[in-house]
Amino acid sequence: MGGIIFENVRIFDGAQLRPGIGAVRVEGQRIAEVAEGGRAVARQPGDRVIDGRGQTLMPGLVEAHAHLSWPSSVERFVPGMALPPEDLVLTTARNARILLDHGFTSAYSAGSLSKSVEVVLNGFIASGGMPGPRLIASSIERSPPQAGDELDPGQVAEHGSGPEAMRAFVKGCASIGAKSVKFLLSGEDALMPGASQQLLYTQEEASAAGEQARESGVWLACHAQASEAVKMGLRAGFRVLYHCTYADQEALDLLESKRDEVFIAPAIGIIQATLDASPPPHFDMSHMKRSAAEVMELQKKLVPELRRRGLKVLPGGDYGFPFNPNGRNARDLELFVRHFGYSAEEALSAATLLGGELMGMGDELGQVKPGFLADLLLVDGDPAADVTVLQDRGRLRAIMKDGRFHKDPALADL
Ligand SMILES: [Zn+2]
Repeated sequence: MGGIIFENVRIFDGAQLRPGIGAVRVEGQRIAEVAEGGRAVARQPGDRVIDGRGQTLMPGLVEAHAHLSWPSSVERFVPGMALPPEDLVLTTARNARILLDHGFTSAYSAGSLSKSVEVVLNGFIASGGMPGPRLIASSIERSPPQAGDELDPGQVAEHGSGPEAMRAFVKGCASIGAKSVKFLLSGEDALMPGASQQLLYTQEEASAAGEQARESGVWLACHAQASEAVKMGLRAGFRVLYHCTYADQEALDLLESKRDEVFIAPAIGIIQATLDASPPPHFDMSHMKRSAAEVMELQKKLVPELRRRGLKVLPGGDYGFPFNPNGRNARDLELFVRHFGYSAEEALSAATLLGGELMGMGDELGQVKPGFLADLLLVDGDPAADVTVLQDRGRLRAIMKDGRFHKDPALADL
């Protein structure tokens, strides 16, 4: 079988827009050749040639904080977060397709509402049976038992308190095939005033989870707002830290000391969406809006400082709420430019090149380079100058994953 050639394209390679017009040849799952500066790639018999019309070819986007099971999407408004089990399964599969439709060829889960739906879905996607992004699948997000919770004896082992329960939970997630295990190390002000400063686990518990994760070959992610939660996660060997809003100097120093090992996603999308929301009168968001305003101001200072210290900060913004639906994910890139001082190219790079590293595939994903996996977008516009074009799925003329079109430009042009 022949390859696929994109010619007459501008190339954003994951780090920068290459000078001049170029061409890219894909063979099988991978990029075989990249030509720049007006050069052509070598054509081979059977190759299909696509005229890029001077549009931009770039790596597929990576969502660093995905909640595929959170119900609301740009295709379906769900007033709330709970769904009956069968609906939840189908909604999760649908949201996976929606992310891919919007240019996200990879997603790193930040937790699921179902124990195993993402793992099962990932099997379907990976085998070609369903459309969706490459997925680092997760199980449910773990928070500690609350006073009054009635755990049945089967649940106590994994969901009770103490280091052994933490180990059992991580082991349980690994045994069903989850790759990332998410913990709420601190609470969340948006849900309960003051909760962001509350630690939900002890260092001993977090460290036990870390030891078990290394033994089981899985990665840990955490919701960490309080400074002490950030430190706790770092000491325990967590790989992905979300939010980090209240990180103090000590937390920043500790983050910097682990800058080659950890990834941060501030999840600014949900904050902006909270500030923008105009809910119906019976739905009081005034507390959430106050909290979001505070977080926004802190994040505007935090993220530039994290970057100055060389940390890897990625777009990914808690999409899936009714007022922040799945499918709107590319807006995070715009928010990185608007609030954090990123250039368009820097925001693109965070969502592609760094995204490949986040997926644990930095040597084969997230860049337009020979040998890399052909997860590619052909964009009608110049995202390296204006990232907002990525929010219009009509401008994604082609979406390719693993060398196969999810959206074929020949069909897009009809
Ligand atoms: Zn989240």
